[in-house]
Formats: sequence, structure tokens, C-alpha cells
Amino acid sequence: MLSAQNEPKKLLAIFAHPDDEQSVAPLLVKLVEEGVEVTLVIATDGRLGVNEYNDNKAGVGLANIRRKEMMCAADILGVKLIHLDYHDQLKAAEGFDGHVPHAQKLILELKNIIDKVQPDAIITWGPDGVTTHMDHRLVGASVTQVFVSQKWKNSMKLYFFGVPSDMLGSQKVKTLRGQERSFLNVQIPFTWDQYDKAYQSLLCHESQYPAEVVMKMKEDRKSFGNRIYLRQFMSSKKVKNRLF
Ligand SMILES: [Zn+2]
Repeated sequence: MLSAQNEPKKLLAIFAHPDDEQSVAPLLVKLVEEGVEVTLVIATDGRLGVNEYNDNKAGVGLANIRRKEMMCAADILGVKLIHLDYHDQLKAAEGFDGHVPHAQKLILELKNIIDKVQPDAIITWGPDGVTTHMDHRLVGASVTQVFVSQKWKNSMKLYFFGVPSDMLGSQKVKTLRGQERSFLNVQIPFTWDQYDKAYQSLLCHESQYPAEVVMKMKEDRKSFGNRIYLRQFMSSKKVKNRLF
């Protein structure tokens, strides 16, 4: 029997849409190579992911295509996949009565998944959600809510993916999605081979990006360097009785 020390570390990476894993894919490849048991949770079915590259219509048909694409990507990355079936945009168009019960169900299901997997670390999005997409921000907020709502084993850590503000162009973009570098307290290098494999997996998402677009993204993003930046969620154990 393996002792607790020798058991593989477990990571849960939790994002909104099939293809969102691309934010951290080189890191996932690296961790899998190191023997970490990586489980990727994708919350939504991607049914609204129409774009200018093809004639796919929004709906169940597209959701089915994206489910297969997500399985292909997870297979190349070497991660376990939990693909949930929440609607893309979390029923935002249905207003309060459609959206809120759907979002609450997601929060409760994420709690069950974390309970079951008992990860050593969780990666999700911070308040920027990278693109400001409401699903990205809401999934990150839901994971954070679950994390702060319970007493977990002490070793469980929560990380938010981030892009340093100094790597982004305009003040507007920095404000929408940048992180001041001093907040990014975890910076993990990856190899260009790991980067290649990450983009090989992105090719699975054919309904979202034709191969030439993936290749262009791969070239463009090299300028961000071979490092994934994260912000560890921290709170002081010491209780204070004043703000200042
Ligand atoms: Zn997305």
C-alpha cells in the first residue's frame, strides 16, 4: 500500500467551456508528466459557441460536437475529464429565475466534486475571467465560494490563473484582465515540448478554431514566455480587530 507521502498529488482544474483549458494547458501537460493526477472539470456544454469559421448552429448538436472535441483534448493532455452539462452562458438569457437556480446547482455540484476528488490543489479563474466572459468569472467565483465555505484538509490550495499586466498593451486591457506582477505569487516554467503538446490538444477543438488559427495563436503566445502565472488564494490565520 502506498503511504500518504508516496501517493500522487491531485490537481483539479476547473473552467467554464470546452477549450478554456488552453489557459493552463502547458502546465497540465507538465504536471501529468510529473505524475500528478490531473482532473479537468468543464462546467458548460458550449452550445452557444458559434463563430465565423464554420456553419455550426447553436444548440444541442453543437454541444454534442464539443463534448467529443473535449474528450479528444483531454486525451492528448493526459487528464481525467469531468464534463458537466450546464448551459453555455448559464441560462443568463432566462433572467433571474433561469440563471440563479442553474448557478446554484453548479456551486453545489462543484462542492461534491471537490469532496470526492480531495485535490491537493485547485486551479480556476480569478475575477478577470481572462476574457471577462460571465461564465469564466462565474465559474471562478463559484469555485472560490465552495473553497471558502468549508474546512478542507489544510494542504488544499486554491490558485487563480493570471496574466501579468506588464505583458498587456493598453491600460484598458490591463484593467480588464491584467494582474499586477506582485500578486502573481506562483510562477511555473514549462518546456516548449510541453507547449507543443498543449497546442496539439487545442487542435481537437475544430468547431472553435481551424488548424491555421491554432498555429497562429501558438506563435503569437510565444511572446508571453514559457511560464504560467498564478495567484494563490491566501488569507491570514490571525484575526484582527481593526482595518488599519
Ligand atoms: Zn470560455
